[in-house]
Amino acid sequence: MKVIRGGRVWLGAAEGFREGLEIVVEGSRITDVRPSQPDQPTPSQETGAREAEVIDATGHLVLPGFVNAHTHAAMTLLRSYADDMALHPWLTEAIWPAEARMTPEDIYWGSLLAIIEMIRGGTTAFADMYFFEDQTARAVAESGIRAALAPGLVDGEAFEARLQTVRELAATWHGEAGGRIRIMVGPHAPYTASQGLSRAAELAGELGLAIHIHLSETRKEVEESLAQHGLTPIQVAERAGVFQVPTLAAHCVHVTDGDVELLREHRVKVAHNPTSNMKLGSGRAPVQKMLQAGVLVAIGTDGTASNNDLDMLEETRLAAFLAKMEEAPQALPAATCLEMMTVYGAEALGFADVGRIAPGYQADLILVDTSGPHWTPLFDPAANLIYSGKGADVKTVVVAGELLMERGELKTVDEERVLHEVRQRAQRIARA
Ligand SMILES: [Zn+2]
Repeated sequence: MKVIRGGRVWLGAAEGFREGLEIVVEGSRITDVRPSQPDQPTPSQETGAREAEVIDATGHLVLPGFVNAHTHAAMTLLRSYADDMALHPWLTEAIWPAEARMTPEDIYWGSLLAIIEMIRGGTTAFADMYFFEDQTARAVAESGIRAALAPGLVDGEAFEARLQTVRELAATWHGEAGGRIRIMVGPHAPYTASQGLSRAAELAGELGLAIHIHLSETRKEVEESLAQHGLTPIQVAERAGVFQVPTLAAHCVHVTDGDVELLREHRVKVAHNPTSNMKLGSGRAPVQKMLQAGVLVAIGTDGTASNNDLDMLEETRLAAFLAKMEEAPQALPAATCLEMMTVYGAEALGFADVGRIAPGYQADLILVDTSGPHWTPLFDPAANLIYSGKGADVKTVVVAGELLMERGELKTVDEERVLHEVRQRAQRIARA
């Protein structure tokens, strides 16, 4: 049993931050959120078991961990490998040829590096789409973080074999590691997996899995889809039956009113990736419009070859600023941002009991240090967090009741070893 005592606790957009509370964690779950009892030790009297471990949160914000709703974790191997290019040449000339040189073991180490970076920035769960996802699953299981992993699918000779990989991955990993791992089906996008979209949707339906896909990321993608099919990419996905299963759609930058209505009607969750959209020159997703229409929008970093980091606080701040930029300063207020990066993200990944500090929820919690100059004064902790907080202010991270980082020290991963491995492997991959 752990008790997190002190600090300001985030209870959701309606209640905001509250002081004078303590959070009781038993096993992987939060069992109580109650007024602080600072003068008494908290032994488990009924069982006579050892005393509770108290985590002192004085001077910190206590929040549900951040959820990164769209990334490609092992792309850490390609950080700063190819920059300042548009999406299509970037993929075909730089990224795909380099990815063809990656081994399963590379994916394992690249994923671990991403996980370290995410834990350090307060991310406790992420949605991933890549290849050799069994290696990412291994890294997730060992590190203690939570993830929804989608093996990417593209058209071509290997498509049927890849579907078989999805089956095997789901049989081995879905619901495993104490429920920390979920498997999704990852048709890359309508323009790269057009033949396979309906097969992917069928398989997801058969296995009871959700879909993770890229939709309407660039104007070029939408124009080519209209020219080829007379339909937007979102309409193509809908016609192929993708939305018959729960769907997480990354980007949705260039969407029509009809597209937004389709997303709402089918309860498609959107992962908004402002940095990647800006850096690749893809455009600005109409986030406020989608939220107002009743579409769930979560926040993702995308991969580190198009971002180039995995800092969810920075990502969410950019989402807020991008939404406000064109004379809409009321768009995406700090409290909404906090919901998007926690409970909306958890819902987008399919974790129903993650993302809130309440009894019955998974104990995925972070402590953010508010002692720095950029936190002073602290009129509105949500505003401080979103508009001036830094990823490095996250000091302690708990996932499923386990400490992954304590006062800045990682507990489950050998950081030095991982950095060394990735440096070596990235050199080999970059050598064409
Ligand atoms: Zn992506």
